[in-house]
Amino acid sequence: MPELKIVKNATCTFCGCVCDDIELHAEGERVVETKRACSLGESWFKHHTAERLYPDALIDGKPATVDDAVEVAAEYLYRAHMPLVYGLSNTTCEAQREAVFLAELIGGVIDSHTSL
Ligand code: SF4
Repeated sequence: MPELKIVKNATCTFCGCVCDDIELHAEGERVVETKRACSLGESWFKHHTAERLYPDALIDGKPATVDDAVEVAAEYLYRAHMPLVYGLSNTTCEAQREAVFLAELIGGVIDSHTSL
């Protein structure tokens, strides 16, 4: 059985409230208990893992290098007539800043999942 690791004052970034008093219990690479997290936070922590479950990038559903995937993505964006930069939940401020820059660079629009 893996060793139990306890992390106090962990921060949950799921919903935007950014609760920073969560106590996490981890066995190996999996979180098994989340003290003081709400049900959303508990589900978020327990379904994330440090295990590598996917390749670094996919092109047409096939594993690819990140460099090749960036090339293909750039080509798609360059050819797009109305590119939409969308998503950005669970995304750092720095990454959101880069997304806004990208949207401006390609003449696109930007939206988050909250518009749903
Ligand atoms: S614990 Fe719940 S309320 Fe707090 S940030 Fe996570 S999802 Fe939001």
